[in-house]
Amino acid sequence: MKHLAERARQVIPGGVNSGQRSIPGLTDLVITEAAGARFRDSQGREYVDYHAAFGPPLLGHNDPDVGAAVAEAGRTVDLCGVGVTAGEVELAETLAELVPSVEKVLLTSTGSEATFHALRVARAATGRRLVVKFQGCYHGWHDAVSLNVISAPEKVGTHDPISTGILPEVLEATLVLPFNDEQAVRRAFAEHGDDIAAVILEPVPHNVGCLLPEQEFLRTLREECTRAGSVLIFDEVITGFRHHLGGWQAISGITPDLTTMGKAIANGYPVGALGGRADLMELFSSRPGGPAFFAGTYNGHPAVVAAALATLRKLREEPVHEHVFRLGERIRTGLAEVFASLDIPALVSGYGSVFVGYFMTGPARTYDDLLRNDANMFIGYRRRLLEHGIFELPLNLKRSHVSYAHTDADVDHLLESAATAAELARGD
Ligand code: PMP
Repeated sequence: MKHLAERARQVIPGGVNSGQRSIPGLTDLVITEAAGARFRDSQGREYVDYHAAFGPPLLGHNDPDVGAAVAEAGRTVDLCGVGVTAGEVELAETLAELVPSVEKVLLTSTGSEATFHALRVARAATGRRLVVKFQGCYHGWHDAVSLNVISAPEKVGTHDPISTGILPEVLEATLVLPFNDEQAVRRAFAEHGDDIAAVILEPVPHNVGCLLPEQEFLRTLREECTRAGSVLIFDEVITGFRHHLGGWQAISGITPDLTTMGKAIANGYPVGALGGRADLMELFSSRPGGPAFFAGTYNGHPAVVAAALATLRKLREEPVHEHVFRLGERIRTGLAEVFASLDIPALVSGYGSVFVGYFMTGPARTYDDLLRNDANMFIGYRRRLLEHGIFELPLNLKRSHVSYAHTDADVDHLLESAATAAELARGD
């Protein structure tokens, strides 16, 4: 029988079902099992997984409590596509209780759908055209935000779509600004304020590793949006529940008008959510033809809702954050020591359970700073880690995550392996 990866390439474009699952050097990777902090491939190799599927399994893969809740939901009710279930009500109440900006909330199946609808309702509410996003932030695959995530140096400062097939007038309706640059924000509002429907950002741009937001920057965004009547959207698809049960808005004390969520809500089951000010969210309450339309066959799927409720219960009842923050800090401190002892220029960044080692000197405030990162070393180091059974995604600028299932022994193993991997990658 032909290898599964080869069969996949015959019938699945590129052999994978999402843009960044096919990794140079790992194109034959077929995953067969995942549990806790580990996954296995069809060659029988086992990896300690710090990639964590780009972030959802904060509790670890195949968490038994989440799995049991899903199985139980399957015995009770499946999708009916009419009315509401008790689980949806309980989940909405929980999200409204936990996340400061959320008065009302709608469920989607993905983060992209949540950001799509956030922009739609912002335009519906304001009657305006423009959206502001920041270089380095990712908000999903739809046209309005499919630009300027990881850009080549010569593309920074211009529109840099991540796909062809997007109408130029759609791209032109998105202004791209540098992150952590309040002067750029003030200039954009001075020039276009009357036409800015929304400002959307990852409060911590984790799609380029980790740029920590300056409080003054977030305050400026809040101030300018309030003054101009624009909708401030925090895309907390990564930061939500992972960094704090109330998201970065609870950490920073800056409350957006709308919040998009996903990933860690349901520990790997397909979920997204859009919540925020009741007056904005209510625009979705009417039937087709009303001010804003919102729909989705699978929204609020009982199995996904059960997974979310079980995940959030565990996040609230067990010392999950304490555990992942402690291991995250051990890793950041430990890696910085390893690279320093080898005289390898490195900046280890991150927050809580997220870590990323850039190979560069100087600070990481804004995307431009990350252009100093040595991409070959970044990728080469991670390729070398694979030889130690450690999986950090070997693509430039990608972040890594620890879960509740990772142990101190896993961290010891990572720190021991990091020295050898970095030494070898330097010579590659
Ligand atoms: N926003 C952010 C911040 C994300 O990281 C992602 C996914 N990586 C999305 C939105 C899109 O979510 P999804 O892939 O579930 O559509």
